[in-house]
Amino acid sequence: MFSKKSKNPEDCIDRGTLLSYVEGSLSPEQSDAVQSHVESCDLCGRFHGEVEGEIKSLSMSISLVWTEEGISCPHRDILKAYLAKSLSGGEADYVEFHLTEIACQFCNANLEDIRALDSEEESRYLDSVRERLNQSTSAFLRKN
Ligand SMILES: [Zn+2]
Ligand SMILES: [Zn+2]
Repeated sequence: MFSKKSKNPEDCIDRGTLLSYVEGSLSPEQSDAVQSHVESCDLCGRFHGEVEGEIKSLSMSISLVWTEEGISCPHRDILKAYLAKSLSGGEADYVEFHLTEIACQFCNANLEDIRALDSEEESRYLDSVRERLNQSTSAFLRKN
């Protein structure tokens, strides 16, 4: 429990915990404890502001690195499935986010590539769809 000795540096939040707090990876209890300390301690309050600023610029540079390095990029098969609209909602959202919000040039290029490669396959697929449509249309017409 936090006593009123919170001005005592020994009670202060260490940097690692403060980082986890800002990142939101602490348990609710820990997070509450850190929050009440940060609010009552000038030193940690200031530190908290600094860490928060750091994290913000860090996560910005992380998304830049991701874009540049292709880390977090969906696998080519996922992109294919995305194009074929056969992904689950969450996966599709992730890919969508990656392509539009992060605007990953690598994946967008990849997607164009897959699209071009698939167009032949796709026209075959469309043919089979057309064929099935024709069949069901004639079945429908026969019924009526
Ligand atoms: Zn403190
Ligand atoms: Zn990507």
